Amino acid sequence: MHYSQKSGEEVLGDLGSGRDGLDSAEVHERLLRYGPNVLETAEAVNPLVIFFDQFKSFIIYILLFAVVFSCIIGEYIDSILILAILLANALIGFFQELNAYRSLEALKKIAALHATVVRGGEKRVVDAADLVPGDVLVLTAGDKVPADARILESVRLKVEESALTGESVPAEKGSGVIAENVQIGEQVNMLFSTTSVVVGNCLAVVVGTGMETEIGKISALISGAVDELTPLQLRLHRFGKRLGAVILLVCLVVFSVLSIQAFFTGGLTGQTFVAFLFIAISLAVAAVPTALPAVVTIALSIGVKRLLKKKALVRKLSSVETLGSCDVICTDKTGTLTENRMTVRYGWTMDGEIELQGIGYEPVGDVKGEPVELLFKAGLLCNNAELHQRSGKWELIGDPTEGALLTSGGKLGLKGTDKRIDEIPFDSERKMMSVLLQDDQGQFSVFSKGAPGHLLKHCSSYYRSGEILPLDQEAMSQIENQNDLYAGQAMRVLAFAWKQKDATEPLDEEGLTFIGFQAMIDPPRQDVLPAIRTTSEAGIRVIMVTGDYQTTARAIGREIGIESEVCTGHEIDNMDDAALTSVLQSGINIFARVIPEHKQRIVTALQGMGHTVAMTGDGVNDAPALKKANIGIAVGSGTEVAKEASDIVLLDDSFSHIVSAIREGRGIYDNIQKSIMLLLSGNFGEVLIIFLAVMTGMNLPLTAILLLWINMVTDGAPALAFSVDPYGTDIMTRQPKDAKENILPLDKLVLIGVLGSIGTGFALFLFSLYGGANGDGEELKLGQTIVFNFVVLYEVVLVFVIRRDYRVPLFSNWWVWAAVVFSVVVQLVLMYTPLRDIFKISALDGRQLLLLGGSALCFYLLCRGYAVLQLFFMKRREATFT
Ligand code: ATP
Repeated sequence: MHYSQKSGEEVLGDLGSGRDGLDSAEVHERLLRYGPNVLETAEAVNPLVIFFDQFKSFIIYILLFAVVFSCIIGEYIDSILILAILLANALIGFFQELNAYRSLEALKKIAALHATVVRGGEKRVVDAADLVPGDVLVLTAGDKVPADARILESVRLKVEESALTGESVPAEKGSGVIAENVQIGEQVNMLFSTTSVVVGNCLAVVVGTGMETEIGKISALISGAVDELTPLQLRLHRFGKRLGAVILLVCLVVFSVLSIQAFFTGGLTGQTFVAFLFIAISLAVAAVPTALPAVVTIALSIGVKRLLKKKALVRKLSSVETLGSCDVICTDKTGTLTENRMTVRYGWTMDGEIELQGIGYEPVGDVKGEPVELLFKAGLLCNNAELHQRSGKWELIGDPTEGALLTSGGKLGLKGTDKRIDEIPFDSERKMMSVLLQDDQGQFSVFSKGAPGHLLKHCSSYYRSGEILPLDQEAMSQIENQNDLYAGQAMRVLAFAWKQKDATEPLDEEGLTFIGFQAMIDPPRQDVLPAIRTTSEAGIRVIMVTGDYQTTARAIGREIGIESEVCTGHEIDNMDDAALTSVLQSGINIFARVIPEHKQRIVTALQGMGHTVAMTGDGVNDAPALKKANIGIAVGSGTEVAKEASDIVLLDDSFSHIVSAIREGRGIYDNIQKSIMLLLSGNFGEVLIIFLAVMTGMNLPLTAILLLWINMVTDGAPALAFSVDPYGTDIMTRQPKDAKENILPLDKLVLIGVLGSIGTGFALFLFSLYGGANGDGEELKLGQTIVFNFVVLYEVVLVFVIRRDYRVPLFSNWWVWAAVVFSVVVQLVLMYTPLRDIFKISALDGRQLLLLGGSALCFYLLCRGYAVLQLFFMKRREATFT
C-alpha cells in the first residue's frame, strides 16, 4: 500500500521512526544504507574531457594538419616542434581550466539546501543531503521540500508543485488518509522533493531521498545553474567567429601575394608553396586569441572564489558580469542594513510603559515597571520560534522578531503552555499572524500580533486595567502617537491583540481587543555606514525597500546615511507606473510598508529608467522580484525559495557584502578586459608586422615556428596572470560602466590600434636596421631574431602599459612579474642553447641586446605619452560638456 493510503502514525511505524525523529546513530546508519539525499547529475568534472577539449578548435585542427603535412614533406623537426608547442599550450590550458571547473563544482556544494528536522526530540537545521527516510521534517512557508515525505500534521498548508505536476496554482495539502492509490498530483497528504511551501507549515516524515524521490526518477532533467555560458562568454564566442573570418581573409591575402610575387620572380616551387601555406597558417594562429575563452573561464572562476571570500555565493555566473554595471541597489532593511538581532526594549499598554534590560536572546534582564502579563503572554503564544540553550549559548530557530518575544516573555518568567488549535500564519502581505488556543481550563482564545497599522484595523476595543473598553478616536490617537514615538527612535513596533472564543467557533481575526505594543531595537550594522559612503562615491544609488513602518524606516535611514522622504506601499498602490517612475526620479530612496509585489514594480520602473538593479529579498513572495532584478540577491537567512530565485546568496546578510560583491564584479570585469586587450593588441601587432612586410615586399620578419611559439607559449602567461590581478585604485570611485557597453569600448579599441601600430613601426624599423628586410642567410636570421625578441618585449611592455591604464599598482601581483620573467628567460634559453638551431635563430650579442632593451623602453615611453595625451583630451572634452 502507498504511504498516502496509510495514516501518519502507520507510516512512522513502517519507517521505524516517531514524532521525536531518529537519533543520531540511526541517522548515521541509514545514511550509509540509503546514501546521501542528492540527485545524481550526469556532468561531473571529467579531466579527460577537459584535456581533449583543449584540442577542439579550428586553429588546432589546422595545426594538426600542418604537423601531418610537415611529416609528409620530410620536415620532421618542424612537425615535432609544432606538436610540442601544441602540447605545452594544451597542458597549460588543461590545468587552469581543471582548477576553474573544480572550484565551480565546489561552489555547487556550498549552495546546497538546508532543512529543519526533529532528531532525538530536538529541532535542528541540517544539510538536506544528510536527510534519511524516517527523518521528521519541519517545513514553513518559503521552504523547499528537500525529500519526498508524508505529512503528519499541517496548518493551512499550500505547496507549489509545478515542476512536478505542471500545475501552477499551489495545491492545498493536509494530513488525512487517501483511500485509493491516486496520481502524484492528487496525493494531497504527500510532499515531493524540489517543490516549495507557499503558505502555512507542517510536520512530515521523509519517505524517500535522493534518486528514490519522484523528481529523482526524472532527474536527468535537472542541471546546475553555474554551467551555462555567460553573456560575456557568448559575446566573445561571437566575436571570435567574426574575428576568425577577417583573419582568414588577411591570411588569404598574404598567401596570395607571397605566391604571386614568387611566381613572377620565378621562385615558386613546391617547397616555397608549402612554406607560404605554413606562414598563412601561422599568421592565423598569431591572429586568433586562442587563450581567450580559457582566460575568461578562469577569470570568472577566480572571481567567484573571491566573491565567496566576501560572503557572496554566486549561483549564476553571468551575475558576476552584471555586478560591474549595477548602479542601483534596492535593499531590505531588516537583517541587511540592521543586525536582525532583535531585543524588546519596551512593553506598552494603556496602563503605561515598562522597560526591559539585557541584550541578545538570553531570557535574563531587569524589568522596570509593572508589566501587563497578557501582553507578554501574547508574545509567547502567538509565536513559532524556539530558543534552545546549547553549550551555554542561546540559539534561535525561527524568526528573530519572534525570538525576541520569547526572550521578553522569559524575562518575566512566563511560559506558554496553551494548546494550539489553529493558526493563520504570518505573511508579509497581511503583516500579521493569529493563533487559536485552548488553555488548561479548556477556555478558547485568539491571540494576534502584527504591524500596528494592520492589526488595529481588526480591533474594536482595547484593554486597560483588566477591562475591555471600546476603541474610540481618543484611544486610537493615543495608541498611534505611542507607535510613532517608538518608531521615531528607529524601533520595530509589534502590536498585540486577543479575544475569547466559544469552543465551536473557527479561528477569525475580527473584533479583537488591542492589548499593547512590544517595541524592539535592531541596531544598524556597524559596516553599513562606510559601505553606503562607498556606494555614493561609486555612483551607485541605494534604495531602502522595507516592510517596516515609515517612521522606523526613516529613523534607521537617518542613522545609516540614507536620507530621503518616504513613499509607502499604500501610496504606490495609488500610482500608475509613470507616477512611480517620477517618484523614483525625484530622488525618493526609502519605500516603507511595501509588499513583495511593490518590489517588483519598483524594479521594473528603475529598469525602465535604464538602470541595472540589484534587489535583495528573503521571503517566499520575493522570488518574482528577485528574478526580475538584474541581480537578485537572497540573504543567507532567507527562505530557500528566495535563494533559488536569486543570482547571488549573501552568506551573512550584511549590505556591505553587496558593495564588496560589486567591487569584485567591477574588478573581475576589468581583469577580463585587460586580458582581452593584452591578447588582442599583441596579436594585432604581429599580424600587422607580417602583413605590412608582405605588402611592401620585405622578407618575412617572423618564421611560422617563431609566430607559433610566441602565441602558444609566451603570450598566454601574462594574460592568465591578469586574472589574479588586484583591482585598480579607482575601482570604487568611478561610475558604473554602461550595461550596453561592448567588452571593448571605442577608447580601448583605439588604444589597441595605437599600441599595435607603434609596436609594428619599431619592429619593422629594427628588422630593416639589421638588414633582415632585404638580406638573406645570416642577415635574415639575425633580423628575424631581433623581431622575434622585440615582439616578446613588446608584449612585456603591453602588460605594464595596460595595467597602468587600469591603475593597478606596479608591484601588487607577483604572478605578473613571474609571467614576464618567464617570457624573457625562455627567450634567453632559446637563443643561448642548441635550441637556437632548431628555431633557426641567432644568439644576440651585448650591443644588440642593449638596443633591443632601449627600443622597448622607447616604445613604453611613447605609449605613456599617448596615454597622457588621451587623458588630456578626455578631460578637455569633459570640461566642454559640463
Ligand atoms: P524588511 O522588508 O526590511 O526585511 P521587515 O522585516 O519589517 O522589513 P516584513 O518581514 O515584511 O518586513 O514585516 C513587515 C511587518 O510585519 C513588520 O514591520 C512587523 O510589524 C510585522 N511582522 C514581522 N514579523 C512578524 C511576525 N512574525 N508576526 C507578526 N508580525 C510580524
